[in-house]
Amino acid sequence: MDKKIGFIGCGKMAQAMIGGLIDSNLIERNNIIVSAKSNETLLKVKALYEIQTLQNNVELATKVDYLFLAVKPDLYPTIIDEIKDSISNHTVIITIAAGITLEGVEKSFGKEVKIIRTMPNTPSLVREGMSALCHNKIVTDSELNEVMAIFNSFGKCEIVNENLMDAIPAVSGSSPAYVYLMIEALADGAVLQGIPRKQAYNLAAQAVLGAAKMVLETELHPGELKDQVCTPGGATIEAIAELEKQGFRSSIIAAMERCTTKSSALG
Ligand code: NAP
Repeated sequence: MDKKIGFIGCGKMAQAMIGGLIDSNLIERNNIIVSAKSNETLLKVKALYEIQTLQNNVELATKVDYLFLAVKPDLYPTIIDEIKDSISNHTVIITIAAGITLEGVEKSFGKEVKIIRTMPNTPSLVREGMSALCHNKIVTDSELNEVMAIFNSFGKCEIVNENLMDAIPAVSGSSPAYVYLMIEALADGAVLQGIPRKQAYNLAAQAVLGAAKMVLETELHPGELKDQVCTPGGATIEAIAELEKQGFRSSIIAAMERCTTKSSALG
């Protein structure tokens, strides 16, 4: 793709996307420009990804076609205020922050701006990201297709209605954290039985990866896949019965409700 992509903010989420994007070869390294607050981050990112860095958000905003705002949600008003007079009519703004709405961004710019609101996740670093996108009316089909190509280069993406965006962090933006917790718990359980720690993480993580692939590739209902593992009177159903007793599924659903409430309040 012969476009320039900028990231204002280059922390965990931006670096995950940049890592995946470079790995995919969709775009040349010298077409990616980033800015951050500290010189320390810029030096680190330059050494790691060999991309252009700038400590000036305004200069960056004037140079790129697609501009990711990759700072924390509370910094959006400050950053937008800083760059609003410098972006061209063609620049597409891409937000990645929970709770930041299209209308809110339009109001902060105080003029008509092309905006794509997204919610990515950190597995983008290994090109297994999952992102949801929505956009305002003035984004053209070709711009949307290019931005989808960017997100697809480091994983998969879905277009959703904006009224569902606050629910996305709970299911894919934040959910890697709960899965890491589960992998850690599985490994702890294995270590408790005497399995060495490193093998325990490999066994647990590969089992989670395999189960996710089974859902995606067989397209069978997760309940059916669970049934296939549960021999009547066997060991797996013993584990399932205990998980149900301990509220495994209801605790995940309750956690997701809290995540959604918090996400919508962040903007
Ligand atoms: P982070 O690691 O704290 O990164 C924030 C970045 O913003 C840092 O590089 C920081 O620079 C930079 N920054 C702060 N003030 C700045 C300024 N005035 N000008 C330019 N850059 C500035 O945060 P993160 O986890 O990447 O999150 C960034 C956004 O992604 C958030 O809005 C979050 O909601 C969203 N998000 C995150 C995840 C996730 O899993 N982490 C998932 C989905 C969405 P320094 O490095 O110099 O401090």
